[in-house]
Amino acid sequence: MSLSFWQQRRRAQAMAYDVIVVGGGIVGCSTAYWLRRQKPSLDVALVEARTLGAGASGRNAGFVLQGTAADYLSDVERYGERTARRLWHFTRANRDLMEKELQGQAFGWKSEGSLTVAGDVEEDERLQDSVGRLRAAGAPVVYLEPEQTNRRIHSTGLYGGLLVTTGAVVDPLRLVRHLAAKSSADVHTHLPVERLRWDDHGGVLLETPDQRLWSERVVLAVGPALPSLVPELPAVVRPVRAQMLATTPGANQTIPVPVYSHRGGFYIRQDEHGHVLVGGGRHQHRQAEETPVDATTPAVQATIERYLNTHFPWTQELSIQQRWSGTMGFSPDGRPVVGPVPEHPDSVFATGFTGHGMGYGFRMGRLLAQRVTGTKRPDGYELFSVSRLNENDPSSRTDPSARSSSS
Ligand SMILES: Cc1cc2nc3c(=O)[nH]c(=O)nc-3n(C[C@H](O)[C@H](O)[C@H](O)COP(=O)(O)OP(=O)(O)OC[C@H]3O[C@@H](n4cnc5c(N)ncnc54)[C@H](O)[C@@H]3O)c2cc1C
Repeated sequence: MSLSFWQQRRRAQAMAYDVIVVGGGIVGCSTAYWLRRQKPSLDVALVEARTLGAGASGRNAGFVLQGTAADYLSDVERYGERTARRLWHFTRANRDLMEKELQGQAFGWKSEGSLTVAGDVEEDERLQDSVGRLRAAGAPVVYLEPEQTNRRIHSTGLYGGLLVTTGAVVDPLRLVRHLAAKSSADVHTHLPVERLRWDDHGGVLLETPDQRLWSERVVLAVGPALPSLVPELPAVVRPVRAQMLATTPGANQTIPVPVYSHRGGFYIRQDEHGHVLVGGGRHQHRQAEETPVDATTPAVQATIERYLNTHFPWTQELSIQQRWSGTMGFSPDGRPVVGPVPEHPDSVFATGFTGHGMGYGFRMGRLLAQRVTGTKRPDGYELFSVSRLNENDPSSRTDPSARSSSS
């Protein structure tokens, strides 16, 4: 295709900003929001390859949970009590900030608790064992006996559950769009950044098929696509697919809170219209789901339907309205990874939210905004710093999905 004079001129002239955020998911949009909030004078651009929320952030179940994707006891065993606690507090702050800062009605905010439910006796015991530790960490948590649990969510054959009274749900796509609108950033969609060209003065030119943008600092929040922009980084993220389905609306609100079950292997909620949204099953198809390809598969969808029919048999009278998938960025140790772009310490990346980005994203945006505007180690930074992956600690590099497989 030929380029017109005008197209060529646009391509040749770089638009300049103080900060450019690349990636219009929950992390990028939250960062743009907090940049505006912290330094209103900054000229900020938000650049997205597709549409806002086109990635995992607009395709997830909308659970805003506290803690990590694994259960609390596993976190304590893996990271130590202190780190597990700090992760809990970070995600709690994420939830509290969303409630305080944003207009929840704009994105379906509902906070009536969340339930982590055991799929077998052993998991039930682990959940009970974690109650004391969670309470000591300040978590508002109540253990429900199997009978109470099944009655509460109209399920069959599930075991005991932990009700976290501060758990919440959102419409994730509306949230992302709300954040972008509130940020007043210059939003460029359908603009894939193909290459970053760093200049000698510390600035960076972002090349896209249509135009060039320039900034002194960038925030890379591109999820699993990070290696394509910063190939020199060690392996900090890999693409993993998650699948979901939604039914036609049920007559009643029978699942009043979001439910995680089978060590996070399945998750289910009902929206305000009665649609049942359910996902997971990846733990039974682990190898096939290690892929960046956005497609549903009959095998995983059948696993999800089996779960629905087994534990929520009343849903059999509903039809399947929608099936979809999304690609998540998994980190080597299950925690998000944040760090300076190698050789360009004024710019920063954040990736590897491992099936739990809604639990971190808004608070993480504040951290990233602080970092890129000059705070070297914002509160919480070391919990997520990439430097931990360089340590000679084999346990820090174990894949958490061996034990837990949320989303
Ligand atoms: C089916 C499913 C269910 C899930 N359920 C939950 C849940 O209930 N709760 C929860 O906490 N988490 C859940 N997750 C995980 C959660 O969605 C992710 O952790 C989170 O969305 C990651 O956000 P992000 O901003 O890092 O990445 P993304 O949402 O992937 O955003 C990255 C963006 O960068 C853009 N991009 C990539 N490359 C470029 C480029 N070169 N130039 C410009 N833009 C680029 C992409 O198009 C994308 O929009 C789920 C995920 C899936 C798939």
